[in-house]
Amino acid sequence: MRAVTRIASHRGGVLEAADSSPSAFRRTATLAVEEVEFDLHPSADGHIVVHHDATLDRTTDRTGQIARLTLAQIKAARIDHSPGEAPLTLPELCAIFRPTPIALRAEIKHPGADFAAHAVQALQAEGMLDRTVFSSFLLESLTMDHPRLWLVSAKVLTQLGPRTVIHLARAKGIPEIGVKIDLADAPLRDTVLAAGLEFGVYGAHSAEQIDRALALGAKVMTTDRPSLALLRRQNFPNTAVSSVQARS
Ligand code: FE
Repeated sequence: MRAVTRIASHRGGVLEAADSSPSAFRRTATLAVEEVEFDLHPSADGHIVVHHDATLDRTTDRTGQIARLTLAQIKAARIDHSPGEAPLTLPELCAIFRPTPIALRAEIKHPGADFAAHAVQALQAEGMLDRTVFSSFLLESLTMDHPRLWLVSAKVLTQLGPRTVIHLARAKGIPEIGVKIDLADAPLRDTVLAAGLEFGVYGAHSAEQIDRALALGAKVMTTDRPSLALLRRQNFPNTAVSSVQARS
């Protein structure tokens, strides 16, 4: 029997809590999800910041590109719809999840292998590297010798086609791909699995999308609604909850 789909709380569950906020991540830490997804950017003074966008503009009361701001400037920002909170550093995020069994799914947003290497180093220093999987839409950011997956954008998947995507992943030694849930179907899944790659999905936010991920037996789904995903999975036909609980 195929293992039950893992649930990754995307940015702390954006549709259930403020985007990438400390309170959202603390809430995720209390849920029975297997993974927490978050996005990483460098600050101008060498810190690693957890935030979705490359700028503060959309989801905080400040503006500016994170990579051009100091940590002090970033910490002056207050995240919208959160109780007066500032973006977290990577070590602060690690502190939230260290006491939990939840795995980290670190998305490398900033281009270049140097930043990815910095993220690996930082997670190692935190003692959290062993439970981290790295993800990125940027192939060149996935050169680390650690669990990693390539997020294949809808555009890349439709323009290149599954065969080329699989070829690229294998050529780079990347063992897993994630595709947008709306483009995921059984033939695509079977093609990916037959090539020896693991198959996951992202963007499973509605009940229908979550059920689709479960029905496909995707390895993992990222979702903005982790509580809903947990509920759907619990009630999904033929779901063996005991196998869900098995964590490495
Ligand atoms: Fe992300």
